[in-house]
Amino acid sequence: MNDFEGRVAIVTGGASGIGLATARLLSSRGARVAALDLKPEGLPDGILGVQADVTDDLQVKSAVEAVVDRFGGLDVVVNNAGIGAIGDVTVNSDDEWLRVLDVNVVGMVRVARHAVPHLRRSTAASIVNTCSIVAWAGVQQRVLYSASKGAVYALTLAMAADHVREGIRVNCVAPGSADTPWIGRSLEQAPDPAAARAALEAFQPTGRLVTADEVASAITYLASPLSSASVGTVLAVDNGMHGL
Ligand code: NAD
Repeated sequence: MNDFEGRVAIVTGGASGIGLATARLLSSRGARVAALDLKPEGLPDGILGVQADVTDDLQVKSAVEAVVDRFGGLDVVVNNAGIGAIGDVTVNSDDEWLRVLDVNVVGMVRVARHAVPHLRRSTAASIVNTCSIVAWAGVQQRVLYSASKGAVYALTLAMAADHVREGIRVNCVAPGSADTPWIGRSLEQAPDPAAARAALEAFQPTGRLVTADEVASAITYLASPLSSASVGTVLAVDNGMHGL
């Protein structure tokens, strides 16, 4: 399917996991794709790597301008870069709080700030933010990460309201436990990583983790005109976890 032919997409966090799967899928459907990441290395042919840290406004501005200069416009932004944090309210320091909120929330704002003026010129503009079911599921030992994703959810609704009348749709996906390098790293910290993985899989209603490709499919749907009446929505990709 070539439904993204002639479209240009930026995927933040596009060098790993969900972002990489999304960059691949958009590219396979005809989009010219830039993966914006801290270290955009090892990308498949046809995906442009752009180095930027989403906590640095100047780097983000330069990266967005570089993509627009190279490809001649911008139609899709996948705001996906994110980091995690473990702990209840007694654990994380103020610096950790500010760091995670800076990457997970303000990082999306910076990318959108510099992308929106270009998206206004697109005839099929879409922003998809990567949220998480922790935004409303009440998961233990995830106060900081959950608060950051709750903010992403609210940010999505507010951005959608602001930009829908100028032709930019804003939506978000909410993955459950998705099998990415991130989950791999966190399972490796368990005393018995194989047992921890088996326990996480058993916790899923389907007995398996979500794949990065499944999240990429949902993001690509929200980025495409197939979802043309969806504005300010959240699409859960979580094996049914949010309903439990
Ligand atoms: P990942 O660690 O595999 O990929 C994240 C990417 O973001 C990496 O390439 C990393 O370099 C990049 N990144 C991190 N900080 C950055 C920064 N400051 N500037 C630019 N790039 C930066 O993780 P993933 O599992 O693919 O997660 C992607 C998104 O999905 C995140 O927003 C995460 O919160 C969300 N998510 C993941 C899961 C899951 O179970 N894996 C579940 C719900 C939501």
